[in-house]
Amino acid sequence: MKLIIFGPPGSGKGTYSSKLKEKFGLEKISTGDIFREEIKKGSELGKKVEKYLREGKLVPDDIVIEVVIEKIKNLEKFILDGFPRTVDQAKALDSMVNIDAIIKINAHPEILVEKISARRICSNPKCDGNYNVADIRKVIDGVEYILPPLLPKNDMKCDKCGSPLIQRDDDKPSVIMDRLKVYEEQTKPVIDYYLKKKKPPFIEIWMSRPPEQVVEKIVEGLRKLNLVK
Ligand code: AMP
Repeated sequence: MKLIIFGPPGSGKGTYSSKLKEKFGLEKISTGDIFREEIKKGSELGKKVEKYLREGKLVPDDIVIEVVIEKIKNLEKFILDGFPRTVDQAKALDSMVNIDAIIKINAHPEILVEKISARRICSNPKCDGNYNVADIRKVIDGVEYILPPLLPKNDMKCDKCGSPLIQRDDDKPSVIMDRLKVYEEQTKPVIDYYLKKKKPPFIEIWMSRPPEQVVEKIVEGLRKLNLVK
């Protein structure tokens, strides 16, 4: 099973793909995570991409495509999170593999800004602990959002490894609006590209409930497409 998950920054796509990874043994490939790890390691790749991440800009296509091709070339089951983000990335992916479904997560920008500002991640680069301190209950454009906080058991320490929680540099308010704008401008053409091709099928879900419920809806969608039992 080869999947892509699309969603604006803060839509929870990282969390959903982690849960799908556990459920179906998919390899989770998140280009954002890869870049952040390389930056922390101070590798050549890290040095090349650092300024783009700091400014909330997209990393150039040739760099991203090379990284992803290297990762997926021998994989049968994976979920791509954060890739493709441009039409050229989508075309490069199409020329390599057949994707079975695209999961598209929708949410109102107001909700996203509130959620992203409240996100906290584990400071341990080997841990994927992810938390949120916002408690959202409201209706926007007819969609009812009930999104309780996801707090660690111990005061701002990761449940998985005990390391302190931190805020990602690009989760700061000044960078968030930029990231949402970049997402809108650059990712919409990619969605349109796939819609026009009518392949692969879309599973479209609103991020209006906690992650477990969103994941259930995704699984329902995968079932309807006969991709899982
Ligand atoms: P994310 O964690 O997916 O929000 O990604 C964080 C940052 O990594 C983005 O703001 C970009 O600077 C960079 N990035 C991640 N994936 C891509 C991609 N497919 N194309 C270009 N830049 C990317």
